[in-house]
Amino acid sequence: MQTRIIDGNAIARDLRVGLIRRVAALAAMGVRPGLAVLQVGDHPASRIYVRNKMKACGEAGLYSEHIELPAEADESTLLGRIRILNQDARIHGILVQLPLPAGFSAERVVEALAPAKDVDGFHPTNVGLLTLGNPRFVPCTPLGVMRLIEREEIDVQGRHAVVVGRSNIVGKPMALLLLQRGATVTICNSRTPDLGAMTSQADILVVAAGRPRLVTARMVKPGAVVIDVGITRLADGKLAGDVDFQSVLGTASCITPVPGGVGPMTIAMLLENTVMSAERTSAGRGSP
Ligand code: NAP
Repeated sequence: MQTRIIDGNAIARDLRVGLIRRVAALAAMGVRPGLAVLQVGDHPASRIYVRNKMKACGEAGLYSEHIELPAEADESTLLGRIRILNQDARIHGILVQLPLPAGFSAERVVEALAPAKDVDGFHPTNVGLLTLGNPRFVPCTPLGVMRLIEREEIDVQGRHAVVVGRSNIVGKPMALLLLQRGATVTICNSRTPDLGAMTSQADILVVAAGRPRLVTARMVKPGAVVIDVGITRLADGKLAGDVDFQSVLGTASCITPVPGGVGPMTIAMLLENTVMSAERTSAGRGSP
């Protein structure tokens, strides 16, 4: 079987062109979508992620602010900055770059965000809305996966989807989105006794475990759609996904590469959520 490689870079580029049009429509009403990214400490990977987000905002015509606090800052300083941003009319989306340094409660910090500006979709109100099937902000990575699936015209309804990973950021919202689209969903975790027995039943397999090359060809059903969310930097500096890409070629019907699959979609969805938030505000539906 010829495996189609899903080009996340091209799909994300396309979506970002569509966003530029929405930004222009907002500009005509005097509104410029604004994103604030809060970073505490100098985590090297976070610095790169934040730089990429700022650059993407600039390219799409969004206003952006990068607020850096030193690692020694205390949680109350961060909460104070969030409260100011919650009231700032230029800001439609607020994102706190994770991980936070030791001593911070990510839970308390996320709860301090105004739900109407929580473009990462991590606030309990937004998690609840997603769970109820009435989402406002959907976490960017699983939303990006759903967009890839839509763009590739992959049928979800009635198919068996297996999600490897149960994190609040990827695995759980991913499973909910697939469920809402009519899939029968199995969620695996590190205690799943025979992972291959589960993954090999999947018509759609989404892997988000953070374990390089965990999934090999013998764990994939012939013809399955394989979405690799994992990104790990190996000792040699290369990036690896959670799927052994080379071995799965010829077995899967299509697969996302790492890099160039899900990663670019995550940033595109962050921009989309921020633009949507600005549109909601300008339509008078932006209250927390
Ligand atoms: P996480 O919070 O560490 O969660 C990993 C999940 O995988 C956990 O639920 C864990 O199970 C499960 N797991 C670990 N080893 C397993 C195994 N051998 N078999 C089955 N399940 C296993 O990670 P995350 O934040 O969800 O991220 C997952 C991966 O996606 C990482 O590589 C991350 O870098 C990547 N990521 C990529 C993007 C992107 O834009 N492309 C965005 C976000 C994350 P337990 O709960 O039992 O521990």
